[in-house]
Amino acid sequence: MDNIAANSEMNSDTEDQDKEYVGFATLPNQVHRKSVKKGFDFTLMVAGESGLGKSTLVNSLFLTDLYKDRKLLNAEERITQTVEITKHTVDIEEKGVKLKLTIVDTPGFGDAVNNTECWKSVADYIDQQFEQYFRDESGLNRKNIQDNRVHCCLYFISPFGHGLRPLDVEFMKALHEKVNIVPILAKADTLTPSEVKKKKIKIREEIEQYGIKIYQFPDCDSDEDEDFKQQDLELKESIPFAVIGSNTVVEAKGKRVRGRLYPWGIVEVENPAHCDFVKLRNMLVRTHMQDLKDVTRETHYENYRAQCIQSMTRMVVKERKRNKLTRESGTDFPIPVVPGVADSETEKLIREKDEELRRMQEMLQRIQDQMDTQKDSY
Ligand code: GDP
Repeated sequence: MDNIAANSEMNSDTEDQDKEYVGFATLPNQVHRKSVKKGFDFTLMVAGESGLGKSTLVNSLFLTDLYKDRKLLNAEERITQTVEITKHTVDIEEKGVKLKLTIVDTPGFGDAVNNTECWKSVADYIDQQFEQYFRDESGLNRKNIQDNRVHCCLYFISPFGHGLRPLDVEFMKALHEKVNIVPILAKADTLTPSEVKKKKIKIREEIEQYGIKIYQFPDCDSDEDEDFKQQDLELKESIPFAVIGSNTVVEAKGKRVRGRLYPWGIVEVENPAHCDFVKLRNMLVRTHMQDLKDVTRETHYENYRAQCIQSMTRMVVKERKRNKLTRESGTDFPIPVVPGVADSETEKLIREKDEELRRMQEMLQRIQDQMDTQKDSY
């Protein structure tokens, strides 16, 4: 009791004097400095039918020519083209802050005559990045993992259709559990302002109607100031972002701006009265980049990881049961004895399967150990 009284007296005595700090108040700074030094990385995917202005928009967003080596295919080549995935990486530096930006493009999407399941290679690509990360994370060299997980997918919707096309619905539904989808209304300069408004409402309704789960902006805290709340509301109502892209600089009212020159006037990419380009760029780069990464890690990757562990556990349990049965029946592992090539091939297959199973068991054990250590440290 006395001790407490003495302590509280001491505290009030020293309250107005220079406080002694343990030092953890500088932690946010330290974390910040460390990540500034290391640099940030971000992987952005662009998808949607070809010709909707994806490459132009990416170049406009990051002011770099990411597509200088691009080879455009002719109609004949495009008819049979399958969706291939291409990756471009650039290091951007702004005021001493480094950003390693990776753009994953999906050229040829919707080009072929038969577009059934043309989203499949995109979904596989996203899964492969998760798988690689999962292997690295469960492996020994966990410190230097290269994170190639896709943090955001800008999905381009044509301005010429009446809302979503069947392929848009199919694509977004196939990918919404794997990646943060941000819908984009492409080439907004081809629509009047009232058409843009109507189209946005229609697309938002259809997204709801088809149960498509697009990226949700986090709700802002109730104690945020009114300006911030207003901005947040505007951002949510901008979906799908109506954008205009251009790789040329034109002169508008004596100023040189990125825009598109038409016989009847100029559309300016960065003019908020003309389109949502600035809103989109701010959201991606300034305000929501970290949240997009967090949702990728905490939701999409965690889903993948849980599914993986579940199927691995199922396989291991099944295999253990099989081995137990074999042991109990007193027979050896039932390798069919077929002389010649078939025999050695069967043995090889079984050995490979056993090896894979052993690796899975090891991986599961490591994950279990990691989880135990995490539990202990709480
Ligand atoms: P991608 O195949 O989706 O990558 O499309 P591109 O970026 O190659 O653009 C295809 C064509 O559309 C090019 O001729 C561009 O100049 C044009 N384009 C790109 N963005 C816009 C835009 O915002 N508005 C209009 N009207 N045309 C655009």
